[in-house]
Amino acid sequence: MRAELAHTAPIPLVAPNGVRWLPVAGWDNSWLWSGFSTRLGGLSRAYCGEEAPSELNLGFTPEDPRETVIRNRRLLAQAVTGNPATPLITVRQFHSNLVVVAIPGDAARERPHRADGLLCAQPGVLVGVQTADCVPVLVADRRQQVVGAFHAGWRGIVKRIVENGIGRMRLEFGSRPADLIAAIGPGIGPCCYAVGEEVLSGFESQFAYARELFHEVYDSDQLRQRYPLLFMNQRAPGHAHAGAALHVDLIEANRRQLLESGIPANAIQITGGCTQCHPDLFFSHRGSGGRTGRMMAVIGIRASKGATRR
Ligand SMILES: [Zn+2]
Repeated sequence: MRAELAHTAPIPLVAPNGVRWLPVAGWDNSWLWSGFSTRLGGLSRAYCGEEAPSELNLGFTPEDPRETVIRNRRLLAQAVTGNPATPLITVRQFHSNLVVVAIPGDAARERPHRADGLLCAQPGVLVGVQTADCVPVLVADRRQQVVGAFHAGWRGIVKRIVENGIGRMRLEFGSRPADLIAAIGPGIGPCCYAVGEEVLSGFESQFAYARELFHEVYDSDQLRQRYPLLFMNQRAPGHAHAGAALHVDLIEANRRQLLESGIPANAIQITGGCTQCHPDLFFSHRGSGGRTGRMMAVIGIRASKGATRR
């Protein structure tokens, strides 16, 4: 991802119910529902200041009452589909490359499937993945009318969750890469995502292009410049320049997997930007020290194809 993309704050659409969300520019809404939530809108009080407006946490986090999250999810469904009762199918994510084919009945499951990707070919439901730094990826097959949502942080990327998901689309639904469109949502950008060397070796073990996804960032923190001795012992000798951190570009990593899967470059959209750079707009796990809400990327096939309800 280019740096300027990371730093530009997207302007969300404001739904009549107050939910602020990001549609995918240029996608055909005549048969498709799709979008990325922000933290704005909703009813959660768990992660905002006392005076601040309530927020749209969509994950069942320890700090937020379950009932609030359920109501937030209905608000998102309403914002994206026009109907708060549109069933929403999610998964219990664990940074795997597991992809399940969802059926409408899954929306009512008390314990959702454990997986990090969802495919669905049935109209009238949304499938969604939750993120708060990890990258959400949405894919749609325009010909077969199949949709997919994938949760792709660094662990999922190294396990090729997106390539695996598109492989399943080909296998189960006969999808052809030339018919696919994809959107990469908000995630922690290369500007902010400093990682350890285990991440680099993970990528290098999988991708010939791994090095292209990493760059060194020299810390310009004023404190470090003024008191360098304070920070001298933080890194083992020989591992990197003092004050340099290794940053990885998860957005570009996912774009590469979409390209490797055969999706044309001009069919891939990048929507959102860096979650840590925009704490007013997005939940960021790293930016908040781990105590934060979850956003959701959702996609579905409209209840009645071709109908325009918005
Ligand atoms: Zn950033």
